Amino acid sequence: MIVLLFGPPGCGKGTQAEFIAGRFSIPAISTGELFRTQCKAGTPLGKLACSIISSGGFVSDDVVNGFVAERISAPDCSSGFLLDGYPRTLPQAEFLDHTLAGHKLGPAISIYLAVPPSTILGRVTARRQCPACSHIYNLLFQPPRVAGVCDFDHTPLITREDDRESVILDRMRAYEELTRPVVARYSRSLYFSVNGTLPAADVSAEIDRVLDGALVPVLS
Ligand code: AMP
Repeated sequence: MIVLLFGPPGCGKGTQAEFIAGRFSIPAISTGELFRTQCKAGTPLGKLACSIISSGGFVSDDVVNGFVAERISAPDCSSGFLLDGYPRTLPQAEFLDHTLAGHKLGPAISIYLAVPPSTILGRVTARRQCPACSHIYNLLFQPPRVAGVCDFDHTPLITREDDRESVILDRMRAYEELTRPVVARYSRSLYFSVNGTLPAADVSAEIDRVLDGALVPVLS
């Protein structure tokens, strides 16, 4: 199974990616997470990515495409994988489609988490992340058990640099301009839109139904 997870910043992709990966035993590949890891490690790619990420811009298509192509050819992706945050531009979508053409795992299933722009800003500024295990919390509806620390490893939680209000507005603009056309492209194939404003467990249940094949795709 190949799953592409789409949606605006703050729609809950990271949380749902974790659920889907666990339930279907496939790796969840987040390009944003890959870049943050490189950034923390101070690699050459990381140094480049750090400044781009903190300004809300996009890493270049060639760099992202190379990264994804290498990652999905790894043995743990042989029975499926989920892509979170990729493809984000039309050239990335073209590259991915070309890479997956005739893939033995069949056509990708696209899931769109729909959250209106008016909800996003409040959600993103309430988001916290564990810098050690990358688990995501939200002070509004998924707070940690003990305020300020990760449930799993007790590391103090952080606010991501790119979740600051000024940056999130730029990310929303980039999303509308560059990623909206990508979603339109995939909405013509195996595509499902899920209400991302519901509680995370309900969104997850809906996605499970989609992936179990219980729902018929909406073709536009
Ligand atoms: P995310 O965690 O998916 O919101 O990604 C965080 C940041 O990483 C984005 O704002 C971009 O700067 C960068 N990034 C992640 N995925 C991509 C991509 N597919 N194309 C370009 N830049 C990306």
